Amino acid sequence: MSPSPSASKPNPIVDSGSIAETPPDPTPLVTTDTAEKPAQSSRKGRPVATVAKPPVGGSSPSKTAPGPGATGLHAGRPAKSAARPDERVTNRVVLAMQGVTKSYPNGRVALRGVDLIIPEGDFVFLVGPSGAGKSTVIKLLIRDELPTKGSVLLDGRDLGKLKRREVPKIRRKIGIVFQDFKLLPSKSVRDNVAFALEVVGTPRREIGPAVDRALRVVGLTGQADQLPNQLSGGEQQRTAIARALVHSPRLFIADEPTGNLDPLISWEIIQLLLRINEMGVTVLMATHNAEVVTAVRKRVVALEDGRIVRDQVGAAYEREA
Ligand code: ADP
Repeated sequence: MSPSPSASKPNPIVDSGSIAETPPDPTPLVTTDTAEKPAQSSRKGRPVATVAKPPVGGSSPSKTAPGPGATGLHAGRPAKSAARPDERVTNRVVLAMQGVTKSYPNGRVALRGVDLIIPEGDFVFLVGPSGAGKSTVIKLLIRDELPTKGSVLLDGRDLGKLKRREVPKIRRKIGIVFQDFKLLPSKSVRDNVAFALEVVGTPRREIGPAVDRALRVVGLTGQADQLPNQLSGGEQQRTAIARALVHSPRLFIADEPTGNLDPLISWEIIQLLLRINEMGVTVLMATHNAEVVTAVRKRVVALEDGRIVRDQVGAAYEREA
């Protein structure tokens, strides 16, 4: 696939900064899994591209992290200066994985001593062959799993030390989209996005404006009343992106978001994610899409057999000579 920036379509971002007015953290991680059967089921078996030889070792800090005054989705949100001590130390770091090892009950070791720091504003591609540990990283971030060893800190909070009642609040810091969109088939685009706020009791008067802003960001204002099955794959993914953004997450995770999309539409989704990142949102995207990764030249973290074998800013999908 060759990248086709913008193609013939207008830029979907019609109002890049306006979602900043969204009230802070009104919703948890919402994927609709438990509420209703998703419109499509998960598909595996995507193409595998392998990352070249291990290991280089060591993380390189991102060159892309903006300063504290970054504008965009988070603009206008008050700085949390009265944070607990661990938050003060790490307030510019959205994600810190320190010495993380994950063994599953069957003895399978999915991650081995992973160290990964993602500063605010970064855009990170997480790449590697099937079985490398990418999904396990994501499961740890959304606290679906706990590390066997080491720690995972989101916004300075150690996810392994949360009390049960604190989990929903921390999950609100994450917005996530998947390969298979996971939209509610009987709800309109607008209602799918609104649902993310409704389930956490956001006041009704705040929901409408927040949903409108999110739909503007993804360029779906005109399709707000359509059902998912009346949308193209790209539009369904945009709906999922709006739903993940509507609560202004600290970390936006895209798990193989272009896996079900053709190359042109994939490129449009990547352009949208880049635009969202420019608005100040930290993005972590797990992908096998080598052409997109190589074309975009962002930070690439490559996993192989549970280890980070490359962490490089401005990199291609595969190691270059
Ligand atoms: P990737 O997303 O890169 O394909 P995963 O994180 O899914 O990799 O898997 C990493 C390793 O952990 C693989 O060997 C996989 O078989 C194993 N694994 C993943 N989930 C489980 C699980 N729930 N139980 C046992 N082993 C698992």
